Amino acid sequence: MLHMQEAGSFGRRSFVAGAAGCGAMLALGLAKFAPEGDICRPPGAQDESRFIGACVRCGKCLEVCPNGVITPATIEDGIVSIRTPKLNFSRSASQLHGKLGWCDHCAENNDGIAKCAEVCPSGALSLDDDSSFDTMKLGIAYIERDWCLAWMLKGCTLCKNACPKDAIYFDEHNRPHVDEEGCNGCGSCEQACVSLESVSLGAGDRSGDIRAIKIYPVGWEPKEDE
Ligand code: SF4
Ligand code: SF4
Ligand code: SF4
Repeated sequence: MLHMQEAGSFGRRSFVAGAAGCGAMLALGLAKFAPEGDICRPPGAQDESRFIGACVRCGKCLEVCPNGVITPATIEDGIVSIRTPKLNFSRSASQLHGKLGWCDHCAENNDGIAKCAEVCPSGALSLDDDSSFDTMKLGIAYIERDWCLAWMLKGCTLCKNACPKDAIYFDEHNRPHVDEEGCNGCGSCEQACVSLESVSLGAGDRSGDIRAIKIYPVGWEPKEDE
């Protein structure tokens, strides 16, 4: 099972690899291996520099997530991040095996207490007692208008229907927008979005797991060529 394979290979070797990678990057000054700043982290890890220093790449958070949304970062995310947990709300049904595919702060499976932070041995995922689905801010949804079916006037409302925070609204032309204040980055809209499949013939070299609505960390801004 993919989930267990990922978890099983995510231990001490990963920590060593990650630490070695950090050292190599610092020694060589390879700016191209620096993280691009677009990784969303599990609850309690929104201070990225503190998180990178504290996470020991043990994989416990990934193992316990009941919703299947934590995956290990790869070299494409930057050497300093390799094997750290990142949120992935674009996993397919065959990868999720019936799991939710977005973060509900463990409301359904652990009375709203984030399991990932509960098991983290290093404090990298660190939450206040009053942390909840309503107070979390994992990121903000961003709509790629060139890929969005509704922005192509094809009448899609899947993201709005999926949003538990009512943070997506439509303008007078039935095109969706995100209320950045209301959005908590839960990823339900991204998980629901089907736009990539619908326009895949024109996908060019875009990564197969990027959907027309995607969650990015607070403060992220699209690159000029995106
Ligand atoms: S809070 Fe729960 S659902 Fe969200 S990432 Fe952590 S373990 Fe997964
Ligand atoms: S449980 Fe904590 S230390 Fe282990 S990989 Fe997850 S965030 Fe890092
Ligand atoms: S817009 Fe998307 S990420 Fe934001 S709260 Fe709604 S479903 Fe969650």
